[in-house]
Formats: sequence, C-alpha cells, structure tokens
Amino acid sequence: MTTALAEWFANSQRDLPWRRRPEPYRVWVSEIMLQQTQVATVVPYFERFVDRFPTPSSLAAADEAEVLKHWEGLGYYRRARSIHAAAKVICDRHEGVFPTDFDSVLALPGIGRYTAGAILSIALNQSHPILEGNTIRVHSRLFAVTDDIGQASTQKRLWECADQVVRQATRSGVPPGTINQALMELGASLCRVKQPACDDCPVAKWCSARERGIAESLPRNDRKSKFESRREAVLLVERRGKWLVRRCGADERWAGLWDFPRFDVTHAPCDASRLSAELEQRCGLRVSLLDTGWSHRHAVTRFRIELGCWRATQVDGRLRVSAEDRSRQVEWSWATRGDLEDLPLSATGRIVVNRLERLADSPCD
Ligand code: SF4
Repeated sequence: MTTALAEWFANSQRDLPWRRRPEPYRVWVSEIMLQQTQVATVVPYFERFVDRFPTPSSLAAADEAEVLKHWEGLGYYRRARSIHAAAKVICDRHEGVFPTDFDSVLALPGIGRYTAGAILSIALNQSHPILEGNTIRVHSRLFAVTDDIGQASTQKRLWECADQVVRQATRSGVPPGTINQALMELGASLCRVKQPACDDCPVAKWCSARERGIAESLPRNDRKSKFESRREAVLLVERRGKWLVRRCGADERWAGLWDFPRFDVTHAPCDASRLSAELEQRCGLRVSLLDTGWSHRHAVTRFRIELGCWRATQVDGRLRVSAEDRSRQVEWSWATRGDLEDLPLSATGRIVVNRLERLADSPCD
C-alpha cells in the first residue's frame, strides 16, 4: 500500500515552496502557518516570512511587532508569538540551529507531537508518525475506525494506525517524510470530507471503510461545533490628522496587535452615549459619536461577529490610560494614516483602514 501511495504522491504532489528546500526551519515555519490556514493562503506569507527571517537567529532578533506585521492577515496570532519565542529558545539552547532530536523539538513553544513529527520526518526523514486533520480522516477510513475521534482511546488508536503505516513504508523503502506528506496530500485532495474520490484513490483496494461502504461517515465526531453570536462596535476617533488606536493586551484575542477602540455590545444596547462613556472610562477622552451605518460580519474561532462602526464628530480631553488597561499592558496611542499602514493590525482593523476615508465621511453607502 505504501509504495502505491508514494508513487501517486510523486506524480501528483503540489509544487510548494517549503517542499523545494525542506530544511527543518522552513518546514517548521510552513507547518505552523498551515495550522488552521489553507495552503493557497499560506504560500505568499511563507515566502515573505522566510525571505525576511531566513534563519532562527534572524527571527529571534526581530521585534515582536515586525513578526506580527509579517503574520498580519493569517490569523491565530498566538502562532506568531510562539514561533518568535521558539526562535529565541533555539538561539539560547541550540546555538541558533534547529534541533534534530524529537524531545528537544517537542520542548519548543507552540510545537506538539504532530508538528515535531512532521518537521523531523519531512526535513530529516526520521521515522515519526503524524496525525492532523487530513491524516485523521485518511486513517479513520483506511482502518475503518468507527469510534468518536473526540475520545482519547480513539486518538491513541489513530496514532497506532499512523505509526503502523510509517513502519510499513520504511520496510518497503519509502522514506517517512514521503509517506507522511503523501497521506496529508491524499486527505487534502482525494480523501476529502464529502464525496471522497475513491475511484481515483491509489490505496482504494486496502481501504476498509470503502469496502464497507462507510467512507463518507468517517471520521465520527460526536462533538458538535457550537457557534456563538456576538456584536461589537469599533470607534473611529480622529484628532489633528491622527487616529486613536490601542495595542491589545496579552489576554485579548489579538494580543500584541493594534486595533481601533472596540467594545463588545452583545448584551447591552449599542448607543452613542453608552459607547462614549465606555471610551472615556478606558482612556479619558470625551467624544460625540455617530453611527456610520457600515457593518461587517466575520468569524473568529467559534464566534460569529457583527461589527458596527461609529465615528467621533467631536473629541475633548487628554489621552489617559485606565489603571485596568495599564495592568493588562494595553497601550493607547495616536496614529497617522501612514502609521496605520505600518502597524500590525487586527484583521478587521485592516478592513476598517482600507475604507477609512469613506467611513470618516459617513454616514455612507
Ligand atoms: Fe479515502 Fe476513498 Fe481512498 Fe479510502 S478509498 S482512503 S475513503 S479516498
């Protein structure tokens, strides 16, 4: 089975920049970026990132703001902070060279069993199994694992399946890096969630789920995704050509990134006087607000957010950060239009900047 899969992979794999030079550092960056993000989105980010930070040392030496700027738009910014922290550990403990033993890799911030196995198998052909979204689906089907994948016992079973396939590949002369990438590629292409292309699949004759006619029902996941609706309001406050912005605290969704003042209004009436009072309490400024009429719906992790936008028509008082924000390391500042281009911004902060002039003239379309 593994030989057939490796042959299929050799003929159908996508040409991706991290595959051209699969060094541990580059594979690591790609694997972290690929968590929660589609390949097509990752490619240009990866190229810019490794161009600017070609080694762990260059990444470790960079400011966090610059690392976040290179991550802006990819989302899940904890990944960027972890990769930056891990680069510093690599410099402190491994003389700037990415470690090559499993335990040292696993000890780096932001790296779990899957990522450590992926880096070391793909870059160095070490024999480690991997298990992520695509390979969970492939192994569940190949081995007809019908138990709930949310159970620890099922995860254990799937890791055993993955290990069994890597061992079989090694016995057949197929390198671990090749078989792991082939399994992921199979899950990303033919063995998709709905309507798997079993007729074109190189391992169809070894697939238990296909034989039993249950492929599309696997993997079984009893945990239903629960989405939460939220309403937020973003405030545009401009004075003498500068815009009020805040750097999000460590406990916030976009920790370390800059954003316009933003308030959760899910459980309270969203009106100008309430938003003005909240802003004054947080930063000392007194503003008169007008609803721009523009809103934006988007999803962040489990939240489905409707973001409304208000702009200040009058601004009084001095910027004075509340004790609560100081304790949470939230920074407030004024940013020129040029600063807004350079600062690492939240995803919706960037959307607002891109239509800032229209919103500033609102109510608008
Ligand atoms: Fe997936 Fe179908 Fe291939 Fe089985 S035969 S691994 S279900 S694509």
